[in-house]
Amino acid sequence: NRRILLASRPHGAPTENNFRLEAQHVPAPKTGQVLLRTVWLSLDPYMRGRMSDAPSYAPPVGLGEVMCGGTVSVVEQSEHADYAVGDWVVSNSGWQDFSLSDGRDLFKLSGPVLKHPSHALGILGMPGFTAYMGLLDIGNPQPGETVVVAAATGAVGSLVGQIAKLKGCHVVGIAGGAEKCRYAEQVLGFDRCLDHRDDNLAQQLSRHCAEGIDVYFESVGGKVFNAVLPLMNTKGRIPVCGLIADYNSTNLPAGPDRLPLLQSAILRKRLRVQGFIINQDYGHRFDEFFRQMSQWVAEDRLVFREDVVDGLDNAPETLIGLLEGKNFGKVVVRVAGD
Ligand code: NDP
Repeated sequence: NRRILLASRPHGAPTENNFRLEAQHVPAPKTGQVLLRTVWLSLDPYMRGRMSDAPSYAPPVGLGEVMCGGTVSVVEQSEHADYAVGDWVVSNSGWQDFSLSDGRDLFKLSGPVLKHPSHALGILGMPGFTAYMGLLDIGNPQPGETVVVAAATGAVGSLVGQIAKLKGCHVVGIAGGAEKCRYAEQVLGFDRCLDHRDDNLAQQLSRHCAEGIDVYFESVGGKVFNAVLPLMNTKGRIPVCGLIADYNSTNLPAGPDRLPLLQSAILRKRLRVQGFIINQDYGHRFDEFFRQMSQWVAEDRLVFREDVVDGLDNAPETLIGLLEGKNFGKVVVRVAGD
């Protein structure tokens, strides 16, 4: 049983030295437990937060503990009445080949999702749920409104933009690099996608949001937010989903204090700015999301791109890359052949 542990806490960007691979015997399930074999491991930006012991909405991974992570796993042995050998489940097994569970944190997979089990970590899982609730419940987009979405080709952003198109909105994405922007326009069907590395992002954004911005789905922060804020319309909504540009920061940015500008924009334009943590705030609405998203998937109305990485050993390097935009689509690690 290979396991990747948190060896030390990063200062700034994580490095491979923050992780340690070790091997152990495969554990045996006791009565009431199942032994799970990890097939797919999800890598997500929130993992950077768990590597740190700064105060957060969830406790950190302890030093020497297995890195946390959602997985799609198969029941290998069962001493639990509700699970049979061969069942597919979504689990929180973390970065390891095998794990034990008492069933309480498992979600059994059945039906069409089994055609593509890793989708339970993406479009039909946590990132899809985040896009759906953040956009529809907090963003509340109306037909004809302008929606801007950051990290536009990623797991969450690609779905936010496509759902906004289904709702009849004008959608402008922001992504890193020409290839991602082309993909957002040509494959995801966004009206425009702008490169946040361009020096003239603010001018471009103002050109392509001629009627201002009604909903900004925030996943990034930093200079992308600076370009968006002056264009927000009165009564605009900003679901604050993530601030990935700052996850590796060790200092506040240089320059003048811009807090008064932000507060004054919120006041004058009566902006609604709301953070959310998907499972904590919306866990009770998972079934509603799953039903609607499964229907859109069955009707082929959404595109979902995965960035598949082979081998558990590659998880550290891949998480480091995810925080720098090296991924193109939802990152999943194929831990074992399915
Ligand atoms: P993505 O698949 O979108 O991958 C992260 C992307 O962020 C990168 O590919 C990169 O895209 C972009 N990025 C990284 N650094 C920067 C930067 N400095 N400036 C601009 N863009 C940057 O990840 P997810 O879809 O899984 O997550 C997206 C966001 O949603 C994250 O902030 C995450 O923390 C948040 N999230 C929040 C949840 C919640 O409950 N609140 C739940 C799930 C996710 P590019 O190359 O285009 O720049």
